[in-house]
Amino acid sequence: MNYEPTIGLEIHAELNTKTKMFCDSANNPLETGANVNVCPICLAHPGTLPVINVEAVHKTVKVGLALGSSINELSWFERKNYFYPDLPKGYQISQYEKPFCEGGVLKLPSGRDVRIRRVHLEEDTGRLIHNYQLPITNYQKSKRGSFVDYNRAGVPLMELVTEPDVASGAEAKEFGEELQLLLRYLGVSDADMEKGQMRLEANISLKSQISNLKSQKLGTKVEIKNLNSFRAAERAINYEIDRQAELLEKGEEVVQETRGWNEESGQTFSQRAKEESHDYRYFPEPDLPPIRLEKTQLDFIKAEMPELPAARRERFVKEYEITAKDAQVLTVNGELGGYFEKTVTELDDWIKNEKITDAPVRQKLIKLSANYLITEVQKLLAESSKPATDLRISPEDFAELIVLIHQGKISSSAAQTILKEMFATGKDPHQILQDKNLAQIGDAVELKKTAQEVIAQNPQAAEDYKKGKAESLKFLVGQLMRASHGRANPQLGEDILRKLLD
Ligand code: ADP
Ligand code: MG
Repeated sequence: MNYEPTIGLEIHAELNTKTKMFCDSANNPLETGANVNVCPICLAHPGTLPVINVEAVHKTVKVGLALGSSINELSWFERKNYFYPDLPKGYQISQYEKPFCEGGVLKLPSGRDVRIRRVHLEEDTGRLIHNYQLPITNYQKSKRGSFVDYNRAGVPLMELVTEPDVASGAEAKEFGEELQLLLRYLGVSDADMEKGQMRLEANISLKSQISNLKSQKLGTKVEIKNLNSFRAAERAINYEIDRQAELLEKGEEVVQETRGWNEESGQTFSQRAKEESHDYRYFPEPDLPPIRLEKTQLDFIKAEMPELPAARRERFVKEYEITAKDAQVLTVNGELGGYFEKTVTELDDWIKNEKITDAPVRQKLIKLSANYLITEVQKLLAESSKPATDLRISPEDFAELIVLIHQGKISSSAAQTILKEMFATGKDPHQILQDKNLAQIGDAVELKKTAQEVIAQNPQAAEDYKKGKAESLKFLVGQLMRASHGRANPQLGEDILRKLLD
C-alpha cells in the first residue's frame, strides 16, 4: 500500500468507585432494576449542586502517574453543552482546558511506545433503551417505546486520549488490551468491554508515502464509534484503512466524519458530520471549585501503586528466566502469576533442604512449573470455568508434584493423572501416587521382563528394527508404555529394548 495509516485512540473507562461522580448515589454496574441508583443531583433537579468525588479524582491521577503523565497542580471541570435525552442536565461535566493528567506513554508488550495526550475525568450519561417492552401491568396501553435508565448517569468516567501513534488495527487491539490490564492492576476499573465499562473510539487517517516530503501533515481523519470489543476495533480499523486507501487511489477525498461499525457486514458506515469542540460551548463549571493537587497527595497515591504489568513481565523474565511469552501469560492472568511465585518459593525451600547447589536444577524446576501452570493447570481451570483464586491445590503440593516429575519418580502421563486428582480433591501428590499405584517403574529387572513380553508379542516390529527401521523401536516403546499402564520410565524402557534387540 502506498499509504501509511495514522491512528489515535480515545478510550473511556468507568471507574469502580462506591458512589457517583458528583452525588452519593451508588455506582453499581450490576444493578438490574431501572432508575434505582438515582437522586435529585444526578437527575438534575433544579437547585441541586454537585460535590466532587475524591476517590474518582485519585483513581484518575493514579492512571496518569502509572503512565508517567504530568499531573496538573491546578485543574478544573468544565461544562460540555449538548442536548440529548440521556443527559438530564443538558450538559456533561467534563474537563477541557486543564485535565488532571497530560502527556505520558504506554509501552506495548511488542515494544512500541504510544504517547498519551491527556487523561481526564467526566461523568457518564444515562442509558437509552429503544423499542423496550414494558411490563403490561405498569401501562396497559403504551407497551413499547424508548425509555431511559439513569442508573449510569453521573458515574465517574475516565477518558484517555492518545497521540496518533498507533500504526494498525492489530496495534490498536494491543493498546486496548494493555490499557485494560493496567486499569485492572491499578484497581481503578473493571474495564469490561462487553459491559460497556471500557469503550473505545478510533481516529484514522492515511498519509501518502510516495511524496516522501517528510511533511508531517496528517490526512483527513475519520472517527469510528461504538466498537464493542478489541476484536471489533481491529477489524473496523483495518476496514477503514482499506476504504480510505481506495478513495485516495481513485483521486477522491476522505470526508471528515463520524462512522459506526456494523459487526455483521464487517463495514463502517457514515453516521454524522464530525462536530467541532466549539460546538460544545465549553466553559468552566461554576458550581465546582478548581482542584489543587498537593505534592503530599501525589506521594500518597504513588505509595499505593502496585507493581505494574510491564514491570512484572520484565521481572519474571529476569528473575525466573522464563520466556517473554510465558511472562506475558503469567501477567495477564495475575492470580496464576502470583501462584507461580509462591510455587518458586516452595521449590527454593526444597532446594535448600536438599542442599542442592546446582543452578540448572533450579532453572529446570522453575521451567517445569511454568509449563505445567500455563498448559495443564490453565486447561483444568478453563474446563471448570474457575478463576485461579479457586485453585484447591496448595503451592506446596504443586511444588512437590513438580519435584516428583523432575526426579523421574512419575511419568508425564502419571503426572497428568495426579494433577487432575489434586485439582479435584486438593489431596497431596504423594498420597495420590500411592493410592493409584502410579510410581514410575525405574527397576531394570522388572522392565526387562515386560520388554521381553512386548518383543515376543510384536515379532514383526522387532524384525523390522533389526533390519534398520528406526521407527519400529518407537513403536515398541509405545507398546511397552501400554503394557506397563504408562508407568515405565520411557528412557530406561527404550535402552532395555535396544539392548535386547541389538
Ligand atoms: P478532535 O478535535 O477532532 O476531537 P483531537 O485533536 O482532539 O481531534 O484528537 C482526537 C484523537 O484523534 C486523538 O487520539 C488524536 O491522536 C487523533 N488524531 C488527531 N488527528 C488525527 C489524524 N489526522 N489522523 C488520525 N488520528 C488523529
Ligand atoms: Mg477531541
